[in-house]
Amino acid sequence: MITKYSNQKEEIKKQELEEAAEEIKKGNLVIFPTETVYGIGANALDKNAVKKIFKAKGRAQDNPLIVHVANIDMVKTIVENIGTLEQKLIEKFWPGPLTIIMKRKDNKIIPNIVTANLDTVGIRMPSNLIAKELIEKAGVPIAAPSANVSGKPSGTNIEDIKEEFEGKVSYIVDGGSTDIGLESTVIKVENDKIDILRPGKITKEQLEEVTKQVEVNKHVLEKVKKEEVVASPGMKYRHYAPNTNCMMIYSKDEEKMIEKMNEIIKELEQTGKQVLVLARGEHLSNIVTKRKWNMGNHLGEIAKNIFTLLRKVDKENVDLVLIEGVGEEELGLAITNRLIRACAYRYLKL
Ligand code: AMP
Ligand code: MG
Repeated sequence: MITKYSNQKEEIKKQELEEAAEEIKKGNLVIFPTETVYGIGANALDKNAVKKIFKAKGRAQDNPLIVHVANIDMVKTIVENIGTLEQKLIEKFWPGPLTIIMKRKDNKIIPNIVTANLDTVGIRMPSNLIAKELIEKAGVPIAAPSANVSGKPSGTNIEDIKEEFEGKVSYIVDGGSTDIGLESTVIKVENDKIDILRPGKITKEQLEEVTKQVEVNKHVLEKVKKEEVVASPGMKYRHYAPNTNCMMIYSKDEEKMIEKMNEIIKELEQTGKQVLVLARGEHLSNIVTKRKWNMGNHLGEIAKNIFTLLRKVDKENVDLVLIEGVGEEELGLAITNRLIRACAYRYLKL
């Protein structure tokens, strides 16, 4: 397959978005930027088009896709009813990085393959203007998971996208690096309570401004045990993971965290092992190994950088990647949720 690209140097032109929208209408795959990460999209109403997403990603059939819309009218064609609390959340956070799981219409306008046969559907209205215009021009909702081979970190910059998907999709819309760098917050409303199924840029603290009844699902930070029922199928899968072993260390006491990192590094290096450290910029000079990368200095920067860094670690050929944890408050919860999976739950909290 030949992949067409939008102009990479100048601003995306109207005509290029029309070409990309045409591919969606024809039932083909288009990779496009959103404010969170890049999405690999297809017409959400066309089951054969959506099948191609699962194939290109190697995604498990029981892991449902998020449907992206450009306006509320599109939502009304898909869901049974928008509840009062959902309406408030939509008014406050859309367009933006919040996915709301809602009851599907019985007419199943959205085919079963999109929702993995569930009676609910995850919907979001992206704020990224390229994404918004693409959906508008295509005239249909677009089902789009993160643009990455399943299991790997999500694609957040155009170079990683090209490396992974050249020749596998019909069109790639170049939006540079994505603003947020982590996928949307996924929530479900039940009995006037919000359950956070996947944390993201819209934090628990922000949701609490709408209602005090907000819970973080236990599988956000805990490994799913065999046979345990999950609220969101994506929670079961290996995700965001390099092939290299990774481990996360966190303490509120930064000196203690650095001391522990140095202890582990010394022990491993004495036995001839190689370590790579990912830490906040301000801590790098206190860490006693040569190979160390700056994750960023504040949570927003770390969120934006983390997937790009995780995608690079396998090229380093080290025995262990030691990653500084960022705690669980505000955007820290979303970063920790991704890192804990990248580390296969090797998380040392001091
Ligand atoms: P991705 O498409 O890679 O951003 O992942 C989408 C996430 O949303 C996955 O973790 C899915 O399991 C979750 N999701 C999508 N639709 C639903 C749904 N109807 N019910 C529960 N979780 C969902
Ligand atoms: Mg994903």
